[in-house]
Amino acid sequence: MNVNLEGMDRYPHLLAPLDLGHVTLANRVIMGSMHTGLEETGDWERLAEYYAERARGGVGLIVTAGIAPNPEGAVYDGAAGMYDDAVLPHHRLVADRVHRAGGRIALQLLHAGRYGYSKRAVAPSPVKSPISPFAPRELTAVEIEAQIADFAAAARRARAAGYDGVEIMGSEGYLLNQFLARHTNRRDDAWGGVYENRMRLPVEVVRRVREAVGPDFIVMYRISLLDLVPDGSTWAEVVALAQAVEAAGATMLNTGIGWHEARVPTIATSVPRAAFTWVTAKLRAEVGLPVVASNRINMPEVAEAVLAEGAADLVSMARPFLADPEFVEKARTGRAAEIAPCIACNQACLDHTFEGKVATCLVNPRAAHETELRYLPTDAPKSVAVVGAGPAGMMAASVAAERGHRVTLFEAADRVGGQLNMARRIPGKEEFHGLVAWFETRLGLAGVEVRLGTRADAATLEGFDEVVIATGVVPRDPGISVTPGASVLSYVDVLAGGAEVGNRVAIVGAGGIGFDVAEFLAHTGDSPTLDRDAWLAHWGITDPGRAPGGLLADGGDPPRSARDIVLLQRKREKPGRGLGKTTGWIHRLSLTRAGVRMIGGARYERIDCAGLHLSGETGPTLIEADTVVFCAGQEPLRDLADALLARGRKPHVIGGAERAAELDAKRAIDQGARLAARL
Ligand code: NAP
Ligand code: SF4
Repeated sequence: MNVNLEGMDRYPHLLAPLDLGHVTLANRVIMGSMHTGLEETGDWERLAEYYAERARGGVGLIVTAGIAPNPEGAVYDGAAGMYDDAVLPHHRLVADRVHRAGGRIALQLLHAGRYGYSKRAVAPSPVKSPISPFAPRELTAVEIEAQIADFAAAARRARAAGYDGVEIMGSEGYLLNQFLARHTNRRDDAWGGVYENRMRLPVEVVRRVREAVGPDFIVMYRISLLDLVPDGSTWAEVVALAQAVEAAGATMLNTGIGWHEARVPTIATSVPRAAFTWVTAKLRAEVGLPVVASNRINMPEVAEAVLAEGAADLVSMARPFLADPEFVEKARTGRAAEIAPCIACNQACLDHTFEGKVATCLVNPRAAHETELRYLPTDAPKSVAVVGAGPAGMMAASVAAERGHRVTLFEAADRVGGQLNMARRIPGKEEFHGLVAWFETRLGLAGVEVRLGTRADAATLEGFDEVVIATGVVPRDPGISVTPGASVLSYVDVLAGGAEVGNRVAIVGAGGIGFDVAEFLAHTGDSPTLDRDAWLAHWGITDPGRAPGGLLADGGDPPRSARDIVLLQRKREKPGRGLGKTTGWIHRLSLTRAGVRMIGGARYERIDCAGLHLSGETGPTLIEADTVVFCAGQEPLRDLADALLARGRKPHVIGGAERAAELDAKRAIDQGARLAARL
């Protein structure tokens, strides 16, 4: 069997080369720009290796993280810029390494405008963004000319550093996008007012960049197709800009969906796969350039379908290349089932970036840590027992076996997955199905002996050289007094046990699992994530030909909760504050729109058949409920670890069994990988 042919047969559009005239891309896959924070570490060797690993994995074109053309355009003070020749040797290292790995790489030029987290931020008008504490300063006409010159100079430097091209960031609400929309451009000079004036800056930037770099260099422009903010661009304006950018010398048009301040999810896991490619298709009909589709395309079959139906000429995926640098190579060689799926959780990538930490990936802890976390073949193979096939145990077992150890994985349940099996039942978290399936594939290929339905005890584990305890957690009993006959369940009963839940529900605990349970109980029927048109309607997203920016003024038609749900916590703060930085707002908004009530500062008294009784400064309150669900966190399940310690063994304890507080799949998988890398 010719494995290469197998990939070509399955993904003929995805794997077809693209001739751009002066250069041919090996396939239709772009690794989209992603801020990892690596540029700011000053460790250019590490950055070069991060990109080179993706180039070796066969991606057609890499786009770097956003690099500022001048200091005022930086996303924050000190962020990476291309305004000084001193940075050229660093960039040469990156571009050379990618070329030696057989790849192509373009530098993204990003001017943050009013999104700059800095007192230096500038914008078309002094309109503060709701997501930044800094009010921008209005650029003068002379300063606007200087911005254009800075873009051109930065592009010239990118060429001198050996990059194959530049991407000009014109979407997501950054500076060039800010000039386009009336929402942010209140000027009445040659750069504001009628659309011809508002689009002058992006078009001039493309023209002057092309002039600066010559004809044989990729100039990709990222255009905002749906702004998803009030007063966004109309469709006629988007088309006029695309055609002007084409005439100004762009090679390709990448597409962006939604400004960062949009209150509509655009990349989160609850967004349907390929949710926005219909609008890319609309643009493709209007221009002669290759057009790139983006957002929630995470698997080769999804990408192939987008290209096969003619919606785009290429696809851009950013986070999927954190999850798996070998995405393209695995698709090409008929190994798509081995691709580590990006579950669009943002937990280790965007959330890290917003917390000022270097990004990585929940599914792949090596991402952006390639030079430090390495899975090298062992020269001293051992027998390793791993107990518990949740994320920590599955990762530890896979990596240890891949390194050459003989691994047995014990799991008491009749399938692997642990807590992931609960997560995948939540509407909007369907990507977890793929994550469990991928772990199963990986365990199989690595030769791990998986013993399901087997509760290992200390005696079972005699004789193994190393024992890894990944037995996970048990739900915490919040210790609230319960009258006999009252209906009280734990989240495990609801999500894993299929327990009957009444119509009026009080949820004790508003952490990640309380929110998940509320989402689960609020829905009936199919998950909106699996029905693109219904999902778009829920969030008020429409054809930009019907409403500017593609956003309906009435905010859409959110599904009301099927139950009367109250979500409670003892902390006085707003419930959900501890959820992911870039996704917490979506969970809060989604439940609020569904009619779920959230209460902070609750003091639990008792539960009886009438519901949950609270005490408070204004007297007792009853939350009437047919069912009370406990989602009050977890305790480590470490009986086995303790039994082994009592016998003088020294097991490795990871995941929730080690520490239940703030446990999530990110820490579990990271711990499993790091332990297995040093066994
Ligand atoms: P958690 O985030 O620690 O939340 C536990 C909740 O229970 C809190 O609301 C807490 O609020 C309450 N609580 C704690 N002790 C209590 C007690 N003795 N009595 C009553 N209430 C109590 O834990 P979790 O929701 O079980 O989630 C576990 C882990 O999985 C977390 O790290 C979470 O981030 C992760 N997870 C993440 C996601 C995601 O989407 N990213 C989804 C699910 C789970 P008060 O103390 O204020 O009452
Ligand atoms: Fe995708 Fe989550 Fe990994 Fe980010 S952390 S790349 S969203 S799987």
